[in-house]
Amino acid sequence: MRTIDLSSKTALVLGVANQRSLAWSIAEALGGAGCRLAFTYQGERLQKNVAALTAKYPDAPMIACDVTSEEQVEGVFARLEREFGRLDILVHSIAYARREELEGDFLGTKLEGWRIALEISAYSFLNLTHHAVPLMEKHGGSVLALTYLASQRVVPSYNVMGSAKAALEHGVRQLAYELGPKNIRVNAISAGPVATLSARGISGFSRMASHHRAKAPLGRNVRGTEVGDAGLFLCSDMASGITGEILFVDGGFNVMAV
Ligand code: NAP
Repeated sequence: MRTIDLSSKTALVLGVANQRSLAWSIAEALGGAGCRLAFTYQGERLQKNVAALTAKYPDAPMIACDVTSEEQVEGVFARLEREFGRLDILVHSIAYARREELEGDFLGTKLEGWRIALEISAYSFLNLTHHAVPLMEKHGGSVLALTYLASQRVVPSYNVMGSAKAALEHGVRQLAYELGPKNIRVNAISAGPVATLSARGISGFSRMASHHRAKAPLGRNVRGTEVGDAGLFLCSDMASGITGEILFVDGGFNVMAV
């Protein structure tokens, strides 16, 4: 029987805020396959939460990283180089937009709100991957991002985050092309709604989730663990032929019209 064994691999997971975070579901799936993990946390506010969760991986470095700080981003990769000497998997599970940009109309988006959303939710993916390449290029690697259907379709209130996800998905394809020769694969999961901290910040999230439930072929919303399992697959050698892909884990919602 073929199973996924990541016991010789290392992964950096960014975006764990609490046990509901999609980053945590992916980390648990990777950890369950034996992968050695490292985590980041954004600030002191969440340090305790993240430390309590990750205590089950006592060897996992926990590194402060606000992705808008180049100094902190550099610090993460310097620490990984010291502790792991290599990196096989990078999981980017980070997004942010100001509350005012996720309410009301897209038409009123302010430049600063646009800049913040695109910097944290899309540019950081490019920048983190850029830093990860030197630790991956000798042996190949896998980079994973989290996206949402609002990159391609209209989801009221998602507003500037739709622009950020469109930029992120473009980044997945462009980087897949550029990093393919180094055997670094770049993919994203487009997840259906899961009630996480960030998701609850989107105005009308509950209505959105019940609409998905009613329309999806599977007749339900997806679970975080299902996103985690898909992440494990994409990051493992089972997906060695897949790059530049946006894999929907949404109960089939995206295929429906009427
Ligand atoms: P989450 O648990 O709230 O995770 C979002 C993470 O982004 C948090 O850990 C947050 O840290 C971090 N973050 C925000 N700004 C940051 C910054 N400047 N530097 C470093 N980290 C920062 O929510 P989630 O739903 O799991 O979101 C993870 C990813 O999945 C996002 O890309 C999201 O768009 C995507 N996604 C989610 C859904 C869904 O329905 N949940 C569906 C499709 C795609 P703080 O909490 O400290 O700000």
